[in-house]
Amino acid sequence: MIKTPLFLLVIGLTFILIMPRNSETKEPSKTSLEVGFAKGDATPKVGINPIYIAGFGHNRKAEGVSDPILIRVMVLKNEGKKYAFICADLIGLFKDQVDEIRKELKDFENVMFSCTHSHEGPDTLGLWGQTPFQSGINPDYMLSLVKITVNTVRDAAKNLTPCETEIAAVSIPELLYDGRPPIVKMDELLTLRFNKEKTKTALGIVLFWHCHPETLGSINKKLSSDFVGYTVNEIKKQTQAEAIVFTGAVGGLMTSLKVPIKNQQGENLNDGTFEKTERYGQLLANASLNSLKKAKAVNLTPIVVRKKEILLPVDNPIYRLAKQLGVFKREIFDWDLQLNKHPSLNQREEKHPSVKTEVSIIRLGELGIGCIPGEIYPELLLGKVAKTPEKEADYQNASTEPDWFQKWNMPYKTVVGLANDEIGYILPKKQWDEKPPYAYGSKSAPYGEINSLGPDTAFLIANAFNELLSK
Ligand SMILES: [Zn+2]
Repeated sequence: MIKTPLFLLVIGLTFILIMPRNSETKEPSKTSLEVGFAKGDATPKVGINPIYIAGFGHNRKAEGVSDPILIRVMVLKNEGKKYAFICADLIGLFKDQVDEIRKELKDFENVMFSCTHSHEGPDTLGLWGQTPFQSGINPDYMLSLVKITVNTVRDAAKNLTPCETEIAAVSIPELLYDGRPPIVKMDELLTLRFNKEKTKTALGIVLFWHCHPETLGSINKKLSSDFVGYTVNEIKKQTQAEAIVFTGAVGGLMTSLKVPIKNQQGENLNDGTFEKTERYGQLLANASLNSLKKAKAVNLTPIVVRKKEILLPVDNPIYRLAKQLGVFKREIFDWDLQLNKHPSLNQREEKHPSVKTEVSIIRLGELGIGCIPGEIYPELLLGKVAKTPEKEADYQNASTEPDWFQKWNMPYKTVVGLANDEIGYILPKKQWDEKPPYAYGSKSAPYGEINSLGPDTAFLIANAFNELLSK
């Protein structure tokens, strides 16, 4: 009578002890992943209507093409849902235009459109026309961009193949120049490698790097993707795989200019030359491929996307003028006075003009990607905003923006900048320095503020990320 229940109890206990271990080793959250890559040619035709090159000064008309302006796409498929990751060799695109692209891709769970921020491609924001009062945009080109992007996403989806994934990270501060004080760089190059299932054949390699592609400088008159094209070509040459370079935290200003680069003979290469641009691109490719020699297997499923639309007040008088003149073409909203009530924000009058933007997080299994709608200063992500503002800074009592990125508990994380919008620079309010005297002994106002919506942009964006992460 007693022996039977004891026997059952022993079996039951053994079962209970073994079961959780088994389910742990199975990694229940991991599901199958497919990946597809494609690229589309978005090089504008030079010689019919003027094509103004974006970045640097006005009236830089393209006189030819050095290398194609491409739209590079990765599509991921997990649990029947498709996700598009787009990166264009362009200066940036406003959210209004990104939404036009998304309208054509409604069968996708998420479409993330970003730009490399090439300063050698066509003007797609309007800021670099013949004069400051004229848009540099070619409307026909903008229409063609939507079509080319949508077709390239469809092509990538046709290439979907079951895959395995690896990840590698390396710090390469020597390939990044920070053109302002305080010197804070986000110098970690993160690389994902997608291999054909059960093989080591690479289907695609994805880089996340934090540098302005502007090595060719302001003298160049030929359309180019700058170093990005050379990086992608070098990776293709060495691995036969397609590559994409996503641009991350480039505010501050993170640049390839002034980075000392030597040729094979040990001679210094000058900014503004194709030789330096090519060599920089190759060095970035080599850094990525070398890091992959120690790559670790990474689980990129399940995929979770969270996004939030927010209003940002347009305080910058140049931006307001540009909108009035029709140089900027995007919808303007009234600032929400309810939002003004936050003690960290400056007070604004009713009907203060605002733009609508979007922040999002994409969680690919063990990798978190923060999608930032502009050019963020790295110190905002690295928790390196100085506690006390410089004594010349405009807001001595400003509070530090919420530190969402450092708090984000993920095995791997990075950011994509110029994601789904380009609102300009996003900088800490404690560093805002528009009024003289200027910090660090400077005789003129720093560059970032002139290209930013205003001093509260960073707070509103960080706050939105915090909300997305607390859900
Ligand atoms: Zn920039």
